[in-house]
Amino acid sequence: MHINSDLHIHSKYSAATSRHMELKAIASEAKKKGIQLVGTGDCLHPRWLEEAKAHGASDGVFEVEGTHFVLTVEVEDRHRVHHLIILPDAAKAEELHDRLHHFSRDIDADGRPRLQLSGDEVVEHAIEVDGLVGPCHAFTPWTALYAYFDSLRECYKDMAKHVAFLELGLSADSDYADTISELSELTFLSNSDAHSPWLNKFAREFNRFEVRDITFDELKKAILRRGGRKPVLNVGFFPEEGKYNRTACTRCYRQYALDEAIGRGWRCECGGLIKKGVRDRVRELATYDVPHHPPHRPPYVHTIPLAEVVKLAIGKGVNTASVREIWLSLIEQAGSEIAALIDVPLDSLEGVDERVIRAIGHFREGKLIIEPGGGGRYGVVSLPEEDGFNSESTPQRTLLDF
Ligand SMILES: [Zn+2]
Ligand SMILES: [Zn+2]
Repeated sequence: MHINSDLHIHSKYSAATSRHMELKAIASEAKKKGIQLVGTGDCLHPRWLEEAKAHGASDGVFEVEGTHFVLTVEVEDRHRVHHLIILPDAAKAEELHDRLHHFSRDIDADGRPRLQLSGDEVVEHAIEVDGLVGPCHAFTPWTALYAYFDSLRECYKDMAKHVAFLELGLSADSDYADTISELSELTFLSNSDAHSPWLNKFAREFNRFEVRDITFDELKKAILRRGGRKPVLNVGFFPEEGKYNRTACTRCYRQYALDEAIGRGWRCECGGLIKKGVRDRVRELATYDVPHHPPHRPPYVHTIPLAEVVKLAIGKGVNTASVREIWLSLIEQAGSEIAALIDVPLDSLEGVDERVIRAIGHFREGKLIIEPGGGGRYGVVSLPEEDGFNSESTPQRTLLDF
């Protein structure tokens, strides 16, 4: 069976997250988005773990109103690198908490704890409790592996061989990461890192896995690509949509060529700090000029959140009742967000605003314009000028092409 899975979100117990990040609210959004398996995030936080246990996390993957959850946590190491850990059950999460609390002052306060440990030590603790571990949003210019290190080995030392996956982050895709030869053996994850259940955040990136059942062991096999279980699709942003795609000022968002940023000592004209973009960072690290996809690498389907497309079409805010109403009608008719965006024949959609149908059509034909993000500001998506279509656009492939 194929399952869609978003393995990196945060609960209401992480800093700067929505108080709506509750299991039931997430489960209900997951259903609408066609996501069967969600990472809980924050599973070392005692109260969040209690809530998970109340739904059956002691036995492993648990179900809330039809959506499955697996225990996950993002931790920050002493170099500020973020790592994602996926755990078998609540007892293992408690064991990991007991190991790590000696190295953390905020493990009981923040869902994403900071640890006085290095990357290799984080991996060591994670595998001791049978967890799967890998770097989060690996290329972003801060709190990430390649922000501070030039290779997996530099960060993880002897433990690099135990790294199970690499999370691409919103500003990168597998074309970017497969220019770096040391990553060819790793499974790439595309996760949302959502801090709220809003339409355009949760599951804005997800993975599709081939598994026999929805359990931790099956997920583990899929991530490690064993026994026929494997990732079959990554779905996520065009890298340009991400907020760190281009090298840019973190204050005024002015974008710079890499040489210019270096020449300016990473100071913007406005006095703000310039941050290296993911695109430039990947070029520095690249072994190849073009991606070398290993045979196991699944296709990567680029999307724009459906709610963003609706917002563009009708010119209302993404969290307004009008956008939500159209969004709901689309996914009810199509079955899921990704089907509405990519698969369903547009003329089969009934009672949907003509402008929305046209905007989805533009998306499918690769005609939406993306002004790349950078410096912490997301890329800006816009509709094509009525009579100024870009003739070089590449049509979006449908899921049936894979
Ligand atoms: Zn992070
Ligand atoms: Zn500036």
